[in-house]
Amino acid sequence: MMYPWLQAFQQHLQASFSQRRFHHAQLFFGLEGTGKRYLASNLAEALLCNTTQNELNRCGSCKSCNLLKAQSHPDLFTLSGEQSSIGVDEVRALNDFIFHSAQQGGNKVVVIERIEKMTESAANALLKTLEEPALKRYILMTCNDVSKLKATILSRCNKTQVNIGDNQQVSFWLEQQGINASTHPWAEIFHNQPLLLDKWLKQDSMDEVDNLWKVAHDIDRISDIAALENEINKDPSLLNVFSRFLMSAFKQQVMNGQLNFVQYQHCVASIETFLSDHHQVLGINRTLSLSKLVFGLQRAIKQD
Ligand SMILES: [Zn+2]
Repeated sequence: MMYPWLQAFQQHLQASFSQRRFHHAQLFFGLEGTGKRYLASNLAEALLCNTTQNELNRCGSCKSCNLLKAQSHPDLFTLSGEQSSIGVDEVRALNDFIFHSAQQGGNKVVVIERIEKMTESAANALLKTLEEPALKRYILMTCNDVSKLKATILSRCNKTQVNIGDNQQVSFWLEQQGINASTHPWAEIFHNQPLLLDKWLKQDSMDEVDNLWKVAHDIDRISDIAALENEINKDPSLLNVFSRFLMSAFKQQVMNGQLNFVQYQHCVASIETFLSDHHQVLGINRTLSLSKLVFGLQRAIKQD
């Protein structure tokens, strides 16, 4: 089942395919949790299905579709976004894969998730392949942050910004998954990233996120850094979530007059330092940086 907010994107791709102006390199970009990866893998499956002529649909029963179900299709090559970076060797393997003829006689498809994770040399190696489109070869990419991509890469792709569009559709969908503002007051903050919310629900992290929300609103009384760290260790991406909750809590407090503007600015600066340390320092001591953040915020809140 296609997520409701992705249907318009799917129809657009379908139209370009039927009209034979479908680009060999498709880049799906946008926030985390909007369904870019889903869109790309769905498209990959449709391109590999043996029955695909003018329609971008997979039949679900041909030989290709069965190979896809078994996750062993020889003409699909995926570079997963789970890894910390995409190196030049992986892109060279991908180039080799594209170059050789298809084992099932049809299309060959490459999916590269989180293409912003490519190293400089990996991006250069990919560039050549993007420049020389080959018949029946498709490269499908996802990206959470296009500002990290080279202009030369961007200019060689058909770009689709994936976002949720119709708010009501998403609210209804989230409601169906059992996520709403009355049970999780923070859900609104992630309304435009519905699959992120869904991921937390599926990996059983809703309690952790609920708790981070409480901690963010109670930060002046927090002393147990180890408990906070335990919470975050379950999923390191919760660090960003916690930072967003803090920002939201302080913004609320400055509007209510509980914080003055100078205090607020100090809080924001502490959070920004914390985030940039985490993005830039490899193997950072999380306990230390969390204590630095929490005590820095407490100091900022108490000062006049
Ligand atoms: Zn099929």
